[in-house]
Amino acid sequence: MTSPAAFSRRRLMQGFAATTTLATLARPVVAMPTNPDVVVIGAGAAGLAAARQLIDYGLEVVIVEAANRIGGRAWTESDTLGVPFDRGASWLQGPADAPHVAQARALGFDLRDHSTPRDMLFIGDRRADGTERRQRDRAWSAFYAALASSRGDVAADTVVPMDAPFAKTVATWMGPMDFGVDIDQLSRQDWYAFAEYEANYLVREGLGTVVASLGEGLPVQRDTAVQRVDWSGEGVQVETTAGTIQARACIVTVSTGVLASGAIRFTPDLPEAKQTAIADLPMGQLLKVGLMFDGARFGLSPDDFVSHDIDGPLPAEACYYLAFPAGHDYMTGFMGGSFGRAMEREGEEAAIAFALERLVASLGSDVRRHFMRATMAGWDGNPLSRGAYSAARPGGFAARHALAEPLGDRVFFAGEAMATPYATLVTGAHMHGARVAEDIAFTLDAPGCSSCAARKQNPIRIPGTD
Ligand SMILES: Cc1cc2nc3c(=O)[nH]c(=O)nc-3n(C[C@H](O)[C@H](O)[C@H](O)COP(=O)(O)OP(=O)(O)OC[C@H]3O[C@@H](n4cnc5c(N)ncnc54)[C@H](O)[C@@H]3O)c2cc1C
Repeated sequence: MTSPAAFSRRRLMQGFAATTTLATLARPVVAMPTNPDVVVIGAGAAGLAAARQLIDYGLEVVIVEAANRIGGRAWTESDTLGVPFDRGASWLQGPADAPHVAQARALGFDLRDHSTPRDMLFIGDRRADGTERRQRDRAWSAFYAALASSRGDVAADTVVPMDAPFAKTVATWMGPMDFGVDIDQLSRQDWYAFAEYEANYLVREGLGTVVASLGEGLPVQRDTAVQRVDWSGEGVQVETTAGTIQARACIVTVSTGVLASGAIRFTPDLPEAKQTAIADLPMGQLLKVGLMFDGARFGLSPDDFVSHDIDGPLPAEACYYLAFPAGHDYMTGFMGGSFGRAMEREGEEAAIAFALERLVASLGSDVRRHFMRATMAGWDGNPLSRGAYSAARPGGFAARHALAEPLGDRVFFAGEAMATPYATLVTGAHMHGARVAEDIAFTLDAPGCSSCAARKQNPIRIPGTD
């Protein structure tokens, strides 16, 4: 999810600029090679970006995807609500020149700026008054000041003022809703390293549709799960449910949840440092419930946030909402962290009932009269993600860099978990995939990589090695 923009994360590292651009839109279909140079494991944002770039560098690529669709955790469908509903990512966020923004514009997608949304805070069944809203705003500022001025990779709840008025409301936004973890599981360093968004859009046709458009024409082998990567010899042997593919290198883009599950085995085993990095990057949870209404707006405007005060213990039984995204007639309820996890386990009926009930508590029984149908989008139980997005454990922030280290010159890793300072984001995954593609092209001496030639002439100097 995303925090209300008035409290958006501070502008920090600008170093990871969007150096990649999306290739031209009309692209020929690339044939599926039998002996590719590179196997890309996973057709999410990172895998698709990496594959495009590798093909542009003149390398032969096969993308192996376990699902029957591309896009990974960016997935728009219209079957359940009758209009585009993003079951995974929905905000197109990142640097001003985030690659998907250009792609979406060029394809004529309807982008709705969401950089200054209203956050309608409810206390019981009434809207917070001016004094209460100012108190809530002061709590946000105090949280930011405390996190920014403290040091170390500690749990956020050890440094923020948890006894301030509205602290629990803010802690619930910041932890479960934004990072997918309870506030006592949120790494201060992970929060600090996250760059402020310059672009922040909702896409009426769905963000998943934008990401899927990047896969058009690419050689993707769907319904094919990778089960083992053998990197014991020269190159790699990638064992899949449809046979073994021999290649010079592979790029692993599955989530840290999938890596931790052991669904893909490595021969030889992953080195200990890599296993520690995976363990330090568990998946956060963000459960979404789409609630379709008959056109009623309950005094809200499209793209408003609706949140509620928390007065019980944390982690709270909270559901915050995005009202009528991009003008659609549904509201999306979000439940994150351990409560979101518990609700997903209880099942769709219970999650929908809770999301509806919680909304009635704020907006009144009119909500029930105008309610039509609903759907739950859970990712915790999805074996192809095992959670929503990575959240470094307190003390584990360095794992984002450690995970990105390649194994030898043949097993590379890419994806949102390594995409600092845009970790957890679609845009980050895309930019990281493209960057790792350049590393591979350099390693494999790809003929079409002009930036590789420049790198050879001016090799990157690693401080302390000369
Ligand atoms: C509910 C939710 C809300 C989110 N909200 C936002 C948001 O608003 N904005 C934002 O920018 N980001 C958001 N995100 C995060 C965003 O979706 C991810 O960061 C991004 O899509 C990750 O891309 P990726 O390529 O790194 O990984 P993935 O998209 O997970 O791609 C990996 C691919 O690997 C495949 N795979 C898994 N196992 C195997 C296997 N054994 N063999 C072959 N293939 C396999 C998977 O099916 C998947 O397609 C959200 C995510 C969720 C779940």
